[in-house]
Amino acid sequence: MEFDLTAHLKFSDNLPQGADIELQKAIDDANSVLFIKGVPHSSMKEAGRIIEWHTHANELCIRIVSGRYTRAHEALLRFRKALGMTIGAKYRIGIRGYDINEFIIKMEAEAPVQVKLPFVKEISYDEKLLTLQLAVSEQDVENKIPDRIVNLVEEKIKQQLYGTKLENWELVWESAQKKVHFRRDPTEELKRRQWIKHGISRGQWIFGPQITKVFSTFERIIEKEILEKLGYSEMIFPKMVPWEVWKRSGHARGVYPEIYYVSSPKSRDPEYWEDVTDYYKVTNEIPLELIRQKIDDPLGGMCYAQCPSFWPFMQGETIASQSLPVKVFDRSGTSHRYESGGIHGIERVDEFHRIEIVWVGNSDQVNKAAQELEKRYAHIFNDILDLEWRIARVTPWFMAQEGLIDTSSDRSVGTVDYEAYLPYRGERTESEWLEFQNVSVNGDKYPHGFNVKTQKGELWSGCSGIGLERWAAAFFAQKGLDIEFWPQKFAKLVAKLPDGIKFL
Ligand code: ATP
Ligand code: ZN
Ligand code: MG
Repeated sequence: MEFDLTAHLKFSDNLPQGADIELQKAIDDANSVLFIKGVPHSSMKEAGRIIEWHTHANELCIRIVSGRYTRAHEALLRFRKALGMTIGAKYRIGIRGYDINEFIIKMEAEAPVQVKLPFVKEISYDEKLLTLQLAVSEQDVENKIPDRIVNLVEEKIKQQLYGTKLENWELVWESAQKKVHFRRDPTEELKRRQWIKHGISRGQWIFGPQITKVFSTFERIIEKEILEKLGYSEMIFPKMVPWEVWKRSGHARGVYPEIYYVSSPKSRDPEYWEDVTDYYKVTNEIPLELIRQKIDDPLGGMCYAQCPSFWPFMQGETIASQSLPVKVFDRSGTSHRYESGGIHGIERVDEFHRIEIVWVGNSDQVNKAAQELEKRYAHIFNDILDLEWRIARVTPWFMAQEGLIDTSSDRSVGTVDYEAYLPYRGERTESEWLEFQNVSVNGDKYPHGFNVKTQKGELWSGCSGIGLERWAAAFFAQKGLDIEFWPQKFAKLVAKLPDGIKFL
């Protein structure tokens, strides 16, 4: 990697005669001391250095080149500061700022990166070398834009390398095979029996009394077997999520294609909306173009993952040791995802119901809570629902590649997915199983993002999302819809299904 930048530093007054000698000295110092600080001995050649300079009137023009260490823009910041203290003090002139006239970054890449990037004027590719011409100001450099551009391009290069393979999948455990006595797509059967009907919105169902009884039985099992047994308290997390929360949770880095955006009216004055209401009254049509003009930019979106909205409760706080581990859950509302063409049955929908369990503590407490949860889940799936299921560790590919996750240890930062076999999709080994819930140990990601501390030591957190539609899809796919064929323990808990609504 190479950085090459040319900048004009502007002084508050013309440089006096003889300043060149001082400048030469400052530059020699920078090249031999200032830019070398913190650079490993073996990488000296990569450190930034000023290779050209000249002055005219009140300007000093310098060209800095570097490899990965004391990158050219970092060298510029150091040099500016040092110069203020030497030349500035000596001649009583201040540095007013600088322009970056040229900033070129060269990076090795197997293939060209063909996208428009912010702050990049031009990208070219030749001989496995990507050349970026940046357009950045002093403020952008202070805001660390160049390093973020480098990170972003490195991310894109890796994405090309590993393609669409997003996750590294590794089997952790699987249950015994269960005898298959239902082979249909449960959603088709649910529709046929009118246990569910399509909602008017995309990817949305209206759940009738019978399936709702099944959902509430799942919830009672979760309450009794998990939440009460392990000491989790119920909370209510907001379901309208502003950008600020997603910036801190990290979702702002990539959630855009899947969120439902939310906007508020520009005014709540009925007069402001009168033309809209009048138009509707006369035409019975919603005047969308008119509405678009009267609403604000999206202020965020509908709940996507439940736990980010919990964290502002902790934000900026120091948690008392006596409150650790914090163990809470939320089931106060729906989650929404724009699944587009991916929508399928009740298992991949745009509006779904999920219980989200969140725990916070030191790393031991967090790992322990995850293990306890996993044991309780196993009890439910094996002894009550009698499912054929498995656990897989999934690691985002970039983390796996960078060795950020130690997949060999029993439990560390990362996610395990719970997957169920869906007989209607085909053979066990051939077909895709359904992820019906997960358990994640998130390390210090959330406490760090929301600036939460403990009285002593580091703070970690974990979360587990239990998707009720996914549990139902897994259960019905394996056990069918007739209560007399359901595992006894579960059938007993359901007791009796409501009659439902008959249509003529
Ligand atoms: P998938 O790979 O199936 O899209 P995901 O990785 O997007 O799942 P997570 O973000 O891990 O899912 O969400 C946690 C849980 O939320 C899932 O285990 C599942 O129970 C539920 N869930 C996620 N997306 C949907 C959806 N579109 N419909 C129903 N439940 C969902
Ligand atoms: Zn979560
Ligand atoms: Mg998904």
